[in-house]
Amino acid sequence: MDALNALAPYRRLTIKIGSALLVDRQGKLRAAWLADLASDIAALKAGGCEVVIVSSGAIALGRSLLGLSVVALTLEQSQAAASAGQIALSQAWAEALGRHDIVTGQILITPNITEERRYYLNARTTIATLLGLGAVPIINENDSVATAEIRYGDNDRLSARVATMIEADCLVLLSDVDGLYTAPPAQDPAARHLPVVKQITPAIEAMAGGAASHLSRGGMTTKVEAGKIATQAGTAMIIAKGTENHPLRALAEGKRHTLFHPAHSRAQARKRWIM
Ligand code: GLU
Repeated sequence: MDALNALAPYRRLTIKIGSALLVDRQGKLRAAWLADLASDIAALKAGGCEVVIVSSGAIALGRSLLGLSVVALTLEQSQAAASAGQIALSQAWAEALGRHDIVTGQILITPNITEERRYYLNARTTIATLLGLGAVPIINENDSVATAEIRYGDNDRLSARVATMIEADCLVLLSDVDGLYTAPPAQDPAARHLPVVKQITPAIEAMAGGAASHLSRGGMTTKVEAGKIATQAGTAMIIAKGTENHPLRALAEGKRHTLFHPAHSRAQARKRWIM
């Protein structure tokens, strides 16, 4: 096995793509970037890996489509933006992966789906069936119906729920940061990058405090929260910077990232869950 290739150990990946990667500051889709990412995904699939995408970007695309220029959207405005933007987002994914003869399926999730057993089992079966048919499920939160109290609000934690639901070996969070630092690097020049986190301790959680980027809702805090959900269920997590072209190929070539080790094997995690 190629020691450099961060993705080599995994057969089923959930990959979360942040809004700031897919949509530029003018609210336009970064189509060339998406085309390169799609070829990375096609290469992973050709190597026998199953891929589930959790894609943000609906609100960011929809606000420009609807001409909503205010800085802070009201809940109603962001729900309308998500509704318009989700169509553009799924079309972009279908086209980008379609060029590699990969079919996409869209699934929009609300928290009850990951928390209520019947919905959970149903969503899981649909995703497994799509994977079995060689398709790539594209998942987002159903922002246009989720209410303020009943929503994830950030796709970091949503993607961790999805990864554990489908028993992915690894969750990859692609955003504009290349991993976890001992302190927020923008504020502390002495901050050190951590290549590996064996266990999410209170000290690790304390390192995560820090601001989100211009479009994303999460920040390092929601990423470490996602790490807790994933690693407790036996899923590894990688945080990597995705802003440059071919971010998955870069990970396979040894680009800097932070790897969070699973806390248990997935079999142990399942036993604990049943008990
Ligand atoms: N679901 C939101 C969207 O598609 C993104 C949430 C997030 O940024 O994590 O616009």
